[in-house]
Amino acid sequence: MKKSAALKMMGGGEMFLFGTVCPLRQKYHKAGCKVCERGGHGPYWYLTWKEGGKPRALYIRPGYAGKARAAVRNMRRLRKYMLEMGLDNIKKFKKQMEARKR
Ligand SMILES: [Zn+2]
Repeated sequence: MKKSAALKMMGGGEMFLFGTVCPLRQKYHKAGCKVCERGGHGPYWYLTWKEGGKPRALYIRPGYAGKARAAVRNMRRLRKYMLEMGLDNIKKFKKQMEARKR
């Protein structure tokens, strides 16, 4: 069930992205800008992740934030399936070894 769900996801042509999609508001420190006074321009969206312990960020062009968020969700679901699969396999492996012993 979990295995087939994971395989179906990977075979479905869906995109998977590591990281988090976060909004960033930009203030330009221009005197009298009402947008800056209200918290800044934007939001501008970034995909942020860590690679080899280093923080990384990718600017997401307007119109792509939804796609990025969906891909991040896909990755989280896939990782959850894989974790569950790995844990199930420990139980199966243990049973296999115990069965051979007898
Ligand atoms: Zn401004």
